[in-house]
Amino acid sequence: MHNATTAALYADVDYTSLSWIEQQWMAWYLYIGNPILATGLMSFLMHEIVYFGRSIPWIIVDAIPYFRRWKLQAAKIPTKQEQWECTKQVLFSHFMVELPVIWLFHPMAEAFGMRTYEVPLPTFREWAPQVALFFVFEDMFHYFAHQALHYGPLYKHIHKIHHKYSAPFGLAAEYAHPAEVAILGTGTIAGPVLYCALTSNLHIFSMYIWIVLRLFQAIDAHSGYDFPWSLQHWLPFWSGAEHHDFHHMAFTNNFSTSFRWWDRMLGTDDKYLAYRARVKAAKNAIKNASQEDRDKMEQKLMAEVEAEGVRAEAEVLRGMEKQKVQ
Ligand SMILES: [Zn+2]
Ligand SMILES: [Zn+2]
Repeated sequence: MHNATTAALYADVDYTSLSWIEQQWMAWYLYIGNPILATGLMSFLMHEIVYFGRSIPWIIVDAIPYFRRWKLQAAKIPTKQEQWECTKQVLFSHFMVELPVIWLFHPMAEAFGMRTYEVPLPTFREWAPQVALFFVFEDMFHYFAHQALHYGPLYKHIHKIHHKYSAPFGLAAEYAHPAEVAILGTGTIAGPVLYCALTSNLHIFSMYIWIVLRLFQAIDAHSGYDFPWSLQHWLPFWSGAEHHDFHHMAFTNNFSTSFRWWDRMLGTDDKYLAYRARVKAAKNAIKNASQEDRDKMEQKLMAEVEAEGVRAEAEVLRGMEKQKVQ
């Protein structure tokens, strides 16, 4: 399927100077023969493979009772039915929202001067600082956009779907209204696009690394598990599942994605910190009790927080009703 025009794109490239991955990159564009199609297909396939590839291990973890000791809301294991419903909704979004956006992405990326088919690819020293910047930007964007989605009408019509699960699981990371996928997805895309517009120096390869890591972050944050080796125990400002699980449980705290600093600076982690302190104190108070009693105590505190969250959600929805009456 070698296409003469695509081959011309690589006319000046010294094939022998390329690394293995660069050769594969070039071979893919030559094989597909149309750069727009090649980028679109690669982006969509990568997203599907990483999303489900990263979710499947969590489905397995949920099926093995041994891991329950690290489950944040141990009493709430997703059922097969829930997992299947979730998968269907996620696939619908992927095909109806993400596929068209991904398709439009290549022309848009090129308009901003992003490199796509070009080799060589950026080195670690080039992409690592870019990816770090995209993480910081997305986290900030998400923090404010997510809070806006908790405002009455937006919550009722859009964000409520994502809050269907008060104890999330990996697959539920992108379980959301198509409008939410578009709104919050902007935070993921806008960083690279702005960066490219400002510096004219970005390869789509850097963006792929960013998107893969962002998918890992989102899926892990919804996993419902906090292991002793989870990243947040090494990087104290990393959010992880322990942080976002609480958002689903308590509804009113922890709006950011990757980092804890926005919630800390603006005080939207007050209930979360109070809850953590309460659990710790209560566990210390019954230090000598059996593990079972300690778990029971934690369940009780958790149920209180969740009940409070349900009340807060009802209030957001009720506030809307009031506005309508006035
Ligand atoms: Zn939310
Ligand atoms: Zn969530």
